[in-house]
Amino acid sequence: MKDSSSWERLAYMCDTYGPRLSGSDNLELALKWIHEEMKRDGLANVKSEKVMVPKWVRGNEYCELVSPRHAKIQMLGLGGSVNTPMEGITAPVIVVKDFKELDARSSEVKGKIVVYNQEFINYGQAVEYRWAGASKAAKYGAVASLCKAVTPLHDRHPHTGSMGYEDSIPKIPHASISSEDALLLERMQKRGQNPVVKLYMESAFQPDVESANVMGELVGNELPDEIIAIGGHIDSWDVGTGAHDDGGGCVSTWNAVKLLKDLGLKPRRTIRAVMWVNEENGLRGGLAYKEAHKDEKHVLMFEFDSGTFPPSEIGYSGNDSLRKYIRWAEPLLNIIDSIKVTDHAWGVDVGPMVRLGIPVMSLDTDDEGKYFWYHHSDKDTPDHVDPQDLNKCVAAIALAIYIYADLPVDLPSQPIGVKNQTK
Ligand SMILES: [Zn+2]
Repeated sequence: MKDSSSWERLAYMCDTYGPRLSGSDNLELALKWIHEEMKRDGLANVKSEKVMVPKWVRGNEYCELVSPRHAKIQMLGLGGSVNTPMEGITAPVIVVKDFKELDARSSEVKGKIVVYNQEFINYGQAVEYRWAGASKAAKYGAVASLCKAVTPLHDRHPHTGSMGYEDSIPKIPHASISSEDALLLERMQKRGQNPVVKLYMESAFQPDVESANVMGELVGNELPDEIIAIGGHIDSWDVGTGAHDDGGGCVSTWNAVKLLKDLGLKPRRTIRAVMWVNEENGLRGGLAYKEAHKDEKHVLMFEFDSGTFPPSEIGYSGNDSLRKYIRWAEPLLNIIDSIKVTDHAWGVDVGPMVRLGIPVMSLDTDDEGKYFWYHHSDKDTPDHVDPQDLNKCVAAIALAIYIYADLPVDLPSQPIGVKNQTK
C-alpha cells in the first residue's frame, strides 16, 4: 500500500502512448511496451496473440450553431458513425427528451437534425440514446442526430462511445454534444427561435488491422494446467487516455500478478494476466481468446472494468459449492477496505468464456457516481485516478485471486451454469 509503482505504471502508459483506440498506432505501441514490461517483471509465457480488430477513424469534425447566432457546439462523433458530406449538414433541429416524444412528434422530424436531451437516470437507460438514436431518428427522415453526453455532469464535455445502425434504415451521422449545448438548443426551441445547426464529420471505417491480446503468467506449482485468467481491456476510446476505462483495470490485474510474484508466492494453479483488446467497439479480443484457449482447463475468469475507485465488492458467479471458500477472503479484504463478497460478477471481455460455463469473478468499486464524469471523454486521464485507490484494487485482486488459485479442493473442469453475467 506504500508503493506508488502501480500508479506510475498507469500514468507512464497513458502519458506515453495516449488513447488506445483499436486500429491505432498508439494501441500497438502500448501493446509492445506491455509485452516487454511483462517479460521484465519476470512473468512466464509472455505472449501477444494475434487479433484482427476494426479500425474506425474519427477525422476532423465540428458542430456549430448557425442561427439565431453563431456559436461553437462541443461535440464528439460517436464510434461507428458515418461521415457527413464534404459541405457538412446544415439543418434546423428538433429537440426531444426521449424516444416517446420523438414518436409523438414524428411528423416534424423530416429534414431535421434530431437532438436527444435525455435524462441521465442511469447509464443503461441513457446510453440507449447514444446506441440507437441515429436509426430511430432516421426512420422518420432525420438527416443527422445529436445525443446529449451520457453523463450526469454538466461541464461542457461531450462523451463518445459505440453506436449502432439498423440495417433497413438509412445511416445518418450521430454525435455526442455537451449537456449545456443540448439545453441551449432546447430553450431556443421552446421560445420558437428555430435553432439551425451545422454538423461536419469525416469519420469512416477502414479495413480491419492486426492487433493482439497480450498475456503473461505466474505458473502454478501443483496444477499448472488449471488456469485463472484475469485482466481488463487495453483498448480505449480515442479521447482522454483511457485511465479509468480501462487502463486502471489492466494495470491492477497485471500488477496483482506481479505482486504475488514479487512476494515469492506460488499458488497451486496458474494465474494468467490478460490484456484483452477491442472491448470498446468489437469484443474481438474476448472472442479470439475463447477460440484460442477454450480447450484449456480454465477454472476462473476475472475482469476489472468498473473504474479505479475504492474497491467495494468482489463478485463471484459460478459454483455455489465454492462460495464458502470465496468468503474466506472477506475478513482479509476488510483489512484493505470495506469490501463485500457478493454473487454478482460480470465482465464483457470474459463473456465469451463465461458463456461456455466458466465461473467468473469481478471487482466492483465505489465511485460515488463519479465514473461517468470521466468515461469516454477527454477527462479520462491518470490525474483522476487516486494512487491509493489503485493500490487498494491491486491488493484486493491479488488477495482474492491468490486464495482461489490456491484452493485445496478440486475445481470443476466441466462447464457449469452461470447467472448474473452482466452488470
Ligand atoms: Zn471499459
